[in-house]
Amino acid sequence: PKMAAQGPMAIAMRLRNQLQSVYKLDPLRNEEEVKVKIKDLNEHIVCYLCAGYFIDATTITECLHTFCKSCIVKYLQTSKYCPMCNIKIHETQPLLNLKLDRVMQDIVYKLVPGLQESEDKRIREFYQSRGLERVIQPATEDSVPDPAGLPYASFDHSKAHFYRYDEQVSLCLERLSSSSGKDKNKLTLQQKYVRCSARAEVRHLRRVLCHRLSVEKQQVQMLFNNESLPDHMTMKQLWLSHWFGKSQPLVLHYTIKDKRGR
Ligand SMILES: [Zn+2]
Ligand SMILES: [Zn+2]
Repeated sequence: PKMAAQGPMAIAMRLRNQLQSVYKLDPLRNEEEVKVKIKDLNEHIVCYLCAGYFIDATTITECLHTFCKSCIVKYLQTSKYCPMCNIKIHETQPLLNLKLDRVMQDIVYKLVPGLQESEDKRIREFYQSRGLERVIQPATEDSVPDPAGLPYASFDHSKAHFYRYDEQVSLCLERLSSSSGKDKNKLTLQQKYVRCSARAEVRHLRRVLCHRLSVEKQQVQMLFNNESLPDHMTMKQLWLSHWFGKSQPLVLHYTIKDKRGR
């Protein structure tokens, strides 16, 4: 049927395919390509009313347009028409023709690492600030699908739409090594200069190093001024705290530990 090809499932399938092709790319090496692909995806996962990523994605059953739940519910207090296509949603009670869209919300959370956690945190703080109890499953790092370590984690929902204007930083990754063993060249980056989003975290860089040097994650340690850097520190935090006013690139060190001892 004609409707099915345009329905939410078809959109979901298309998004999943696009998502997979984004995840296959190395975000540091294919920065431009990743940006272009994410931009294409964006029009399907951004709310027309608030320009942020969908939160509690809610679809109008009459026209299949999707919005954040709170955005569309508020909008329909004063209208009976879809804000995007102007179709009449219902003669008297437009809320009856809204449906929570779990498939769409699932896609948004998969596409935007960090969004779910920041939303959970926001809800938790809302309850806490009013002295209310609410039990939420703690989000562990393992529960977050992030197969390629795209440097778009820890999203600020209010600025989500403008991610493509992310500040960029240039980094120089130097290997710290006293030895001149046989692995010296093998374990040293051929291309030590990288550009990445200021939101990239230390763990993303570690992953890139693992990938390029074919070592395991536990073997890679990132250092700045001989101090080990925490995994979740962003390049922006590092820049502001230790490199402010200096010129690019920001110089980081890494060490590759031996595989033994496990
Ligand atoms: Zn919205
Ligand atoms: Zn519509």
